[in-house]
Amino acid sequence: MKVGVLALQGDVREHSQALMACGVEVVNVRRPAELALVDALVMPGGESTTIAQLAQIFGLFSPIRERIAKGMPVYGSCAGMILLANEILDAKAGQETFGGLDITVRRNAFGRQVDSFESDLSFEDGSSELIRAVFIRAPWVERVGVGVQILAQVGSHPVAVRSKSILATSFHPELTGDHRIHRYFVEEVARVAVQQVQ
Ligand code: GLN
Repeated sequence: MKVGVLALQGDVREHSQALMACGVEVVNVRRPAELALVDALVMPGGESTTIAQLAQIFGLFSPIRERIAKGMPVYGSCAGMILLANEILDAKAGQETFGGLDITVRRNAFGRQVDSFESDLSFEDGSSELIRAVFIRAPWVERVGVGVQILAQVGSHPVAVRSKSILATSFHPELTGDHRIHRYFVEEVARVAVQQVQ
């Protein structure tokens, strides 16, 4: 299985390393031709408005939307979660998303940069071990649509969700060296979805 990392801005290298540690081939995606090579896509943390603008400039916006609509497995962390959400609160004027995930997220919900924090969370992947979660100007989820499963919460706010082949986290597992979430994406979300299409 080839997994792309949307390589326009943000912590692309960290995601690539985590994915390689899970044993998949990784392709940096900057152009439609590179998107066409991959079975699944990861959208990194960074700045969602910048990533969306660059995706327009690089001609990736519509091709990514089309692939998501056809069921391509996608995982978004932080800015990536925002880019996958159907609806954003506190969005920049005119901010667009790829969408596909029926959630409403609030940008920068936990506060400003100084309010970034780490927390140990339970993650509903069948393991009882807590997972270290790093939040950096993170969004939280304010509404989940029908069929969206909540995998982790901080207080009453969902911070990890899944809907069929789309996975999103408010936090950054690519920064901790713990590859559990990437492994969950590769093995439980992406591989299952790709096998169903074949
Ligand atoms: N606040 C950023 C945004 O709106 C996301 C921050 C992050 O990815 N660490 O895109």
